[in-house]
Amino acid sequence: MTRALITGITGQDGAYLAHFLLKKGYTVFGTFRRQSSSNFWRLYYLKIANKIKLIPADVLDSTSIYHAFEESNPTEIYHLAAQSFVGASFDQPLYTSDVTGFGTVRVLDEILKFNKKIKFYQASSSEMFGSEKSSIKNESTPFMPSSPYAISKLYAYWQTKLYREAYDLYAVNGILFNHESPLRGLEFVTRKISNEVAKISLGISTKLELGNISAKRDWGYAPEYVEGIWKSLQVKNPDDYVMATNESHSVKEFAEKACEIANISKKHISTSKKNLRPFDVNNLQGDYSKAKRKLGWKPKTKFNDLVKIMVQEDIHRWEQRLKGEYLPWDAGTA
Ligand code: NDP
Repeated sequence: MTRALITGITGQDGAYLAHFLLKKGYTVFGTFRRQSSSNFWRLYYLKIANKIKLIPADVLDSTSIYHAFEESNPTEIYHLAAQSFVGASFDQPLYTSDVTGFGTVRVLDEILKFNKKIKFYQASSSEMFGSEKSSIKNESTPFMPSSPYAISKLYAYWQTKLYREAYDLYAVNGILFNHESPLRGLEFVTRKISNEVAKISLGISTKLELGNISAKRDWGYAPEYVEGIWKSLQVKNPDDYVMATNESHSVKEFAEKACEIANISKKHISTSKKNLRPFDVNNLQGDYSKAKRKLGWKPKTKFNDLVKIMVQEDIHRWEQRLKGEYLPWDAGTA
């Protein structure tokens, strides 16, 4: 049985990836951070919490990373742990550098000490392209990061390439464009929209307040991206791959489509300066043709269907909550 270790298994992608790998017959281990209250709702939601082995580890602490390796003895490591929210990275630039940037090097370094044969996946980000002007980005597009998050991810991206070339590690960068789902954290704009729109439609909220609604992103459906993440480690030679849909849509389009699906007026949408970031990326759209050619990966879910999946699930969750049912997921805390 192949043994996989997922850092950040409690996050959106970690949970979907664990679910996917279990179906493939993997033994799945995942790291979680010790916190005063646990964050396993996604693992319960996917009904996999009792099928995986959870190991406490923090990417700020090399010793805990090494212990996770000893306990899991993995053949593949999917490094997803990160301070992943761009907005928060402006408030916590040093922390973001430490977790998202240096954290990756801590993992890479411990791999060198533990077993150089482990395959390593780094979740790099389309945000690394930042303010670069070309309309569609691929693996050869220059990077121009525009946030502490993007700069930290770019640092980790280059370190991953360096460890591949200098130490002959099987190390892969996935350059992931935005991917969303009902398991997205509530601070991310797509989930903020689907959750608030659901509440408005049920009469428990009245407004959806956003920031820069003209920002455009390439939004895919997360469960399809974790398959691409897995495929990236199954080919003979390690490489870097863009995963995207090749379409971009604005936050305004997302919010308006969500209102349409929930059958509420677009007049509920407002903007506030307090939600603006110090600096924002206008448009990100990705060309996934290399991943299609080399890995046989392509996205399936279209934009309108993605919005529908998210809005309908948030409405369903709130309806259940209003009936007084206990829910493991986070809608109840919003
Ligand atoms: P999430 O924010 O949902 O998950 C991040 C995970 O990292 C959580 O499990 C979190 O744990 C964990 N984590 C945070 N800090 C630490 C730490 N110090 N030590 C150990 N674990 C930590 O992100 P996603 O699942 O959406 O994304 C997965 C990866 O892919 C991230 O690296 C992200 O930056 C990257 N990515 C995601 C994209 C997307 O659109 N989703 C696009 C491009 C890249 P906890 O639950 O305790 O907070």
